[in-house]
Amino acid sequence: MNRILKLAAAAAVLAAAAGSADAGTLEFRFIGNEAFEITDGETTLFTDFPYRPGYAGYMYYGLREVKRRADSLCLITHRHLDHFDPNLMKRVECTVVGPEEVTGQLFGNEFLPLEEEIRFRTLTIRPIRTQHGELEHYSYLVTWHGLKLFFTGDTTDYDAVMRVDGIDVLFVTPWVARKILKQDLPIPGKKKVIYHHRGRGVMPGCGECLWPKQGDGFQLTTAK
Ligand SMILES: [Zn+2]
Ligand SMILES: [Zn+2]
Repeated sequence: MNRILKLAAAAAVLAAAAGSADAGTLEFRFIGNEAFEITDGETTLFTDFPYRPGYAGYMYYGLREVKRRADSLCLITHRHLDHFDPNLMKRVECTVVGPEEVTGQLFGNEFLPLEEEIRFRTLTIRPIRTQHGELEHYSYLVTWHGLKLFFTGDTTDYDAVMRVDGIDVLFVTPWVARKILKQDLPIPGKKKVIYHHRGRGVMPGCGECLWPKQGDGFQLTTAK
């Protein structure tokens, strides 16, 4: 290889390295209720997990899921037991982000205080206070490898999600999705995932909304 070609090759590698600083592949897997396991291979994000299996007639899952996970974050919307169980959480040993009503019940897990913007390894988390009865409840916007993930939680508010631009993946309950459609508004998000349902279902008018079965997954790659 002559010198110019060598330089060109080196430049191409550098450009690829710079471009990939925020690139990555995220793998998503549905556990049940509002619980997803999302990983880039190094860090794992759990949403509303571990919860109490079968609580209030909602979904069961195998307790083999409840094991120590290194470098994991459990992101919890509120303290209802179909979203969070302090005993099981201790066994996962995840770092927790959640309302004080949740972090106040922890024993053995570390937690990060709620701030306007929270950082955990390569994730940035923005909590958004939303209503769910009298409970302390947060929806979350997570930015990870350049992807914007939005989790509604159990809120009945739909306006919080409508105020966020450029959502890549929206995790939304059937009731919030229906509320948005009732206003004749499009459901935001390049990809939309319906969660907290009791099994098979469809969302007429939602376009390509995914209504996952337990264990279903998908992958997204960012290459910037
Ligand atoms: Zn709830
Ligand atoms: Zn719930």
